[in-house]
Amino acid sequence: MAGTPRIPLLDGTALPQIGFGTFNIHPDHQPTRANNAATARAVATALDVGYRHIDTAQMYGNEQGVGEAIGVSGLPRQELYVASKLGNDNHRPEDVRRSFGDTLARLGLEQLDLFLMHWPLPSRYGGDYVSTWDAMGSLVDDGRLRTAGVSNFQPAHLERIIGATGRVPAVNQIEVHPYFANRTARQASQRHGVVVVAWSPLGQGSLLLDPLLGRIAAVHGRTVAQIVLRWHCQHGHGVIPKSAHRQRMQDNLDLFGFELSDEEMAAIDGLDRGEAGRIGPHPDTWA
Ligand code: NAP
Repeated sequence: MAGTPRIPLLDGTALPQIGFGTFNIHPDHQPTRANNAATARAVATALDVGYRHIDTAQMYGNEQGVGEAIGVSGLPRQELYVASKLGNDNHRPEDVRRSFGDTLARLGLEQLDLFLMHWPLPSRYGGDYVSTWDAMGSLVDDGRLRTAGVSNFQPAHLERIIGATGRVPAVNQIEVHPYFANRTARQASQRHGVVVVAWSPLGQGSLLLDPLLGRIAAVHGRTVAQIVLRWHCQHGHGVIPKSAHRQRMQDNLDLFGFELSDEEMAAIDGLDRGEAGRIGPHPDTWA
């Protein structure tokens, strides 16, 4: 995994800081042949340009395509870091275990590096995401999973699972980008030693025409996407940008030959629009 720094996690493992996001490579979001084929092609290109951390999810319908690309890559298993996420329909403990087995089978793996509860869903399952979290912990205990984490967890969700089980998630994958700093969720994660992985790190492309970011990019002779991803890295976030284009995939990995100054970091921090900058649903109400 030369060239990609690793962020240490509280369970003793480490996360390659830059990963490849696979949501929306194909519009199906269902396990169709077209979705899996498009994902397999994109992930094969990503592995070829040097990504070694791949982010997928049960709800993307494309784990099989990720598995196909991994299978044909010939890369040694220990060089790869594969993350997936529990589907919203699979929160009951028996479904956690069954669906996790299906995820491993689709990916063609015996052990997964990182499995995240995709959403807390506080208004489904009688508000019980604690037994879901417990069941995810049992996957680590039985050796099929290296690291359990969460996604879209607000401070209260984090505190509840930690208080009830004593098991701290190693990762919280949340929406973060310069237009949506998501400060309270980031700070709560950091307080508990939970590493933040930023989803939609480029704001799904919405940031790329920002004039301030354009000026900073010109100063460094870099693209706006590289400036935004570098801002994340200097904040210590993992990032999982998605692109269907080889050159962009390469650019998004090439973040370590330059540094943003404290003033530039502060100026980018100043782009935060608070809740108005949020792109995805709010975790308190998403069901
Ligand atoms: P993103 O990575 O912020 O942005 C992707 C968009 O930016 C695409 O339209 C892509 O276009 C464009 N892009 C990428 N690199 C570029 C570059 N160098 N120059 C110009 N345009 C560029 O958004 P995302 O896909 O929503 O988020 C990334 C990953 O986060 C997802 O793929 C998924 O794995 C994860 N995610 C997780 C959650 C969650 O709830 N946990 C939610 C959403 C996403 P092209 O493809 O045409 O290059």
